[in-house]
Amino acid sequence: MEILFLGTAAATATPLPFCRCPACQAGRRAGGKNLRKRSSVLIDGEILIDLGPDFASACFEYGVSSAEIGCLLQTHSHSDHFDAGHLITRIPEYATENPRPMQIVASGACLAHMSEKLAREEEGATLLAAPWREKLGVEIVRAAHGNRLRYKNYEILCLESAHDLSDESMMYIVRKGDAAFFYACDTPLFTPRTWDALEKLDFPITAAAVDQTYGPDTPGGGHLYANQVAEIAARLKNTRVLATHISHEGTPPHEEMDAWTRARGYETAWDGLKIQL
Ligand SMILES: [Zn+2]
Ligand SMILES: [Zn+2]
Ligand SMILES: [Zn+2]
Repeated sequence: MEILFLGTAAATATPLPFCRCPACQAGRRAGGKNLRKRSSVLIDGEILIDLGPDFASACFEYGVSSAEIGCLLQTHSHSDHFDAGHLITRIPEYATENPRPMQIVASGACLAHMSEKLAREEEGATLLAAPWREKLGVEIVRAAHGNRLRYKNYEILCLESAHDLSDESMMYIVRKGDAAFFYACDTPLFTPRTWDALEKLDFPITAAAVDQTYGPDTPGGGHLYANQVAEIAARLKNTRVLATHISHEGTPPHEEMDAWTRARGYETAWDGLKIQL
């Protein structure tokens, strides 16, 4: 499996627009891996995790054909992970020709919230009624903790996240053959049920991208900070762990952050990073 990181920033993008903190100022000067778009990954060019606001520009930058995407795994509906404007352009009114049918996997609450956002773009638009799903060229699959779903020759395991209970936030493991990729974003510390499911898996997790919104010694709400990710990386034995969803809060420049994580047995992802599993 090939994993392409389309974006590795938290909600604010990094550097944060208008922010003059030392991290943002240094990031602007250095550029390169310090410039982070909102978090999203693409698997084998056809499974997208999170249709975020930077989706189109990331596809342009990395030479991705968005027309080949056949499956969207939506973790939750927050605005840095779901841009309804991108999804609504699939309807015939935008003169979109022959879009590839797309399966959308999301929790029930997330699908309802995505539908509210779609309706703000186009009156009446919803994922919850068959005529609109047909117009959008999508099928929906409801995700709940412990579900094992299929998309073509991929297995998708759904795990709960306590990030936003009202949105029933989900995390996903995508598995093909011997490769399994765990997208753990957005999330605070994993719930006991999620650890239980992870420890009972009948296959190893090859790689994991883990929410590291806040840097070393910088605890924050609803997400993980670097010291917690280091503990998770140690507990996920034999898994290549990469930090993602990185904000300006407590995070040093990329090379320094990456050195900090590597000293603790994991890595810091960056926009455009491709890994083969
Ligand atoms: Zn987020
Ligand atoms: Zn800043
Ligand atoms: Zn979120």
